[in-house]
Amino acid sequence: MKIKTIVTGIAGRMGKQVASALIQESDIELVGGVDLKNQSIPVSSGDIDTIIEVTTDLSELIEKTRPSVLVDFTHPSSVMNNIRIALQAGVRCVVGTTGISSSDFNEINDLCKAKKTGAVVAPNFSIGAVLLMKFAHIASKHFDSAEIIEMHHNEKVDAPSGTALRTAEFIEHQMLAASRQTAAGLQLQPARGEDVKGTRIHSVRLPGLIAHHEVIFGKLGEILTIRHDSLSRESFMPGVILAVKEVMKLDKAVLGLDALLTISGVF
Ligand code: NAD
Repeated sequence: MKIKTIVTGIAGRMGKQVASALIQESDIELVGGVDLKNQSIPVSSGDIDTIIEVTTDLSELIEKTRPSVLVDFTHPSSVMNNIRIALQAGVRCVVGTTGISSSDFNEINDLCKAKKTGAVVAPNFSIGAVLLMKFAHIASKHFDSAEIIEMHHNEKVDAPSGTALRTAEFIEHQMLAASRQTAAGLQLQPARGEDVKGTRIHSVRLPGLIAHHEVIFGKLGEILTIRHDSLSRESFMPGVILAVKEVMKLDKAVLGLDALLTISGVF
């Protein structure tokens, strides 16, 4: 049985890429898309060419196509509404849209438990970015201070990036109290970036960039730099495809591709 899947935000940069990736999978069937731009979109991938019907009404599409999974790459202002509609209808969710707060995630988890279904919420679906977070977590045991520089295309609506926020969380658990005090003392200097859980994050937005993260650790006499670059949106697709397949086995919400990889035995 193929996993019937729909995509919200299908006419966007990520949505189109996800649609192309999904139609290549023999055990997934892309049955429709939702976007504010209500047009059918041509999707080409390898030797497959198809037209995907796009609607503006998620509830109607769910009713019509009875999907198992919704993949959402929309906008921070609309993602929670889409997730609520899907989970209430018993449709599992794979969420790539960034800007999901911890209280949003708790709500998603509560809905999953109530409906005995699953969701995956990941601010970054690339394996390299997950490794960056893991390596930063390890390094933070050995360094007193860290700062993050995240660089994205100029149309990204949120800052700091979800990946930078999650990396700061990974660092926070290990970082020595001394560095947090240093960061707190700099609160009145906007040019020093935003203090997130004791780590300064600097956001750069420029045309030409895709998604780039650098974590710089410092201590007396040495610097360690860990950097990841997504050079094309294809870098996110293996993670999205894995999530569509793995979410079918979940009865709770999972936060982060790292957690999903652990659950599915890859890490
Ligand atoms: P985009 O602006 O190119 O596309 C968003 C699309 O969503 C647009 O076509 C828009 O019309 C549509 N949309 C907005 N509200 C909608 C709604 N209520 N219902 C249906 N469609 C709606 O943006 P993008 O570059 O594709 O990024 C989308 C999101 O994905 C952002 O939050 C971005 O940060 C995130 N992102 C996540 C990852 C990851 O790995 N998790 C990677 C890249 C981007």
